[in-house]
Amino acid sequence: QPGLYFVATPIGSARDITLRALDVLASADVIAAEDTRSMKKLLEIHGVPLNGRHVLSYHDHSGEGARGKLLSYLEAGKSVAYASEAGTPLIADPGYHLSLAAAEAGHLVTSAPGPSAIITALSLAGLPTDSFFFAGFLPNAKKARQTALEAVREVPGTLVFYESPKRVMAMVADAAEVLGGGRKAAVARELTKKFEEVLRGTLDELAAELPERTIKGEIVVLIDRQRGEAASEEDIETALREALDSLSVRDA
Ligand code: SAM
Repeated sequence: QPGLYFVATPIGSARDITLRALDVLASADVIAAEDTRSMKKLLEIHGVPLNGRHVLSYHDHSGEGARGKLLSYLEAGKSVAYASEAGTPLIADPGYHLSLAAAEAGHLVTSAPGPSAIITALSLAGLPTDSFFFAGFLPNAKKARQTALEAVREVPGTLVFYESPKRVMAMVADAAEVLGGGRKAAVARELTKKFEEVLRGTLDELAAELPERTIKGEIVVLIDRQRGEAASEEDIETALREALDSLSVRDA
């Protein structure tokens, strides 16, 4: 069927691709990818022949030219499959402008869904998943990062961030400072790969632990939502004293 197909690809383990995604890649008239080399490799691994098709390169910032070309294929009634380098297109990856342009032009926009690091990390982190907020990558500069963290402090759901191994230590330290070190959190890395690992603890615990290790690879940081302040011992004593006082007044 003619239309634009967003195809999800593996986030680490090459076999994490759906049968339908392979069908779509096998039958699309046109294949476009963020990274043409990794797309060709993926097709090769799964024995999907190109049959004379080229893999076109497309990023949202490749501009009107490349987008116009894909739109003209759609206009001509062709099916176009688009995949980003890993995981689900549009999720911290290109595809948004293409999706919008194709929908606005009245073409079918559909998907062959599959892995995304957000969902994979949420299922392993040990944090509530009833509601979550994906905040993408935080800014590099400390001040801007802290401002971005302040903006999500009161979001009533688990916070999910993508992070680089170089910055994760500074990011967790800033999160402890801005959001409160007592919040539960998880650092999930290399999901679906050989060195998959999930570190769980409070932000303070993780901020202390990370400098002790070498954290490599691809990383998702997850942080629990703001919880009511735990009552201090002093508060509990005062509340008890007041309750006892009111009882003895009534008894008298
Ligand atoms: N489109 C992808 C998706 O659906 O997850 C995300 C692409 S984004 C450019 C790449 C970032 O996703 C990495 O820097 C990392 O934060 C996260 N990521 C991707 N694969 C991952 C993996 N296997 N384990 C942990 N994080 C991963």
